[in-house]
Amino acid sequence: MDPFVDVLRRLREAFRSGRTRAAEFRIAQLKGLDRFLQDNKQLLQEALAKDLHKATQLDSAFIRKEPFGVVLIIAPWNYPLNLTLVPLVGALAAGNCVVLKPSEISTSVEKVLAEVLPRYLDQSCFAVALGGPEVTGQLLEQRFDYIFFTGSPRVGKIVMTAAAKHLTPVTLELGGKNPCYVDDDCDLQTVANRVVWFRCFNAGQTCVAPDYILCSREMQDRLVPAMQRAITRFYGDDPKSSPDLGRIIADKQFQRLQGLLGCGRVAIGGQSDETERYIAPTVLVDVQETEPVMQEEIFGPILPIMNVQGPDEAVDFIRRREKPLALYAFSNNRQVVKRVLAGTSSGGFCGNDGFMHMTLATLPFGGVGASGMGRYHGKFSFDTFSHHRACLLRPPGLEKIYAMRYPPYTRRNLRVLQMAMETRGCSCTLL
Ligand code: NAD
Repeated sequence: MDPFVDVLRRLREAFRSGRTRAAEFRIAQLKGLDRFLQDNKQLLQEALAKDLHKATQLDSAFIRKEPFGVVLIIAPWNYPLNLTLVPLVGALAAGNCVVLKPSEISTSVEKVLAEVLPRYLDQSCFAVALGGPEVTGQLLEQRFDYIFFTGSPRVGKIVMTAAAKHLTPVTLELGGKNPCYVDDDCDLQTVANRVVWFRCFNAGQTCVAPDYILCSREMQDRLVPAMQRAITRFYGDDPKSSPDLGRIIADKQFQRLQGLLGCGRVAIGGQSDETERYIAPTVLVDVQETEPVMQEEIFGPILPIMNVQGPDEAVDFIRRREKPLALYAFSNNRQVVKRVLAGTSSGGFCGNDGFMHMTLATLPFGGVGASGMGRYHGKFSFDTFSHHRACLLRPPGLEKIYAMRYPPYTRRNLRVLQMAMETRGCSCTLL
């Protein structure tokens, strides 16, 4: 019988029991390890000297954060200034040269970024590339040291494929469908206000906006009138005349959204006006999962409601789909919010509010799975645009000790080397 079978079985059982996940357990183990090192310092030094003639305290190990080199930043149109400048801050702070490719769809901002911004930066280190998919395609033929892309998953795949040709590392900040679970136990009007505001902010053209609601049928019957009250309070009886409701960026995007208004049954809104690219704040009910509004990212002021029995069914529903960029859960019961958080995965999570988690510079912002890879904001931006170089500086002498590494390999040398290899995972510095 292999002696390790029992050991592994024991450890697997312990892991399955969940004990190792509790913070107290992990802290206790690390404290135990620390005590082992402190209590046995002398013993360990003697053992190391006997085995390896180690003198490692003379080494100095550190991480050097270095700029990647020339980086490409590709941005979308929905927050055309923020989504170009925030990554740019990280790239410049880390010491890179930058090619900035704003979206060709937000033409006015693109023009200002191309004509005015370069006057404020050293133009020998900074360039703006203008144009649409064709120009981006040409840019992607070039070799960059890092590519930071914000946009749709479809184009994200094009960017990653192009980057792979040069083994260029990427950050992909993508989109998707962000679920929003509303529990039966919640403050109805507060939830309605928050959901409506976050869905209609920038006319719904926000990557982290709640994209659909999951709630019980009973909650839906109460939530729809509460959302209507919120819409009237924010935008008046005629939302079209409200100065606080945005418009859809361009005809193509408007036509796509107009098509989505035909899904399910309109419970609120549903009006549109092509001349203004206006879509009314809209809530859809009786929607089928197979309809386009539940298949694609909406990116407009339209909110479908899907019915689930409770948090467990909501978690199942979310888990059957791609991991979203953001996920929301509203409940007066903290355990319900925690249940949704623990049972799912997403780029970010916010309990009892909309996308406020992404406004904190102390939290990383980014997706997971189909919603992207990598993270930025605050210090995370600096780290994203830096290569973390692992460095060890060793004194030039002590050759007698290190000579053990060289051939010819006597039995004694081999024994020492073997022991050194075994401890590599911990702290072997002999090699
Ligand atoms: P998009 O993917 O169409 O375009 C983004 C950029 O890629 C633009 O600069 C565009 O010129 C370029 N591009 C478009 N087609 C291309 C092609 N075939 N080849 C090469 N480059 C191409 O996205 P969009 O419509 O500008 O923005 C909306 C999308 O961006 C949504 O999916 C939204 O969720 C996502 N988004 C994500 C975030 C985030 O932080 N995760 C933020 C904003 C928007």
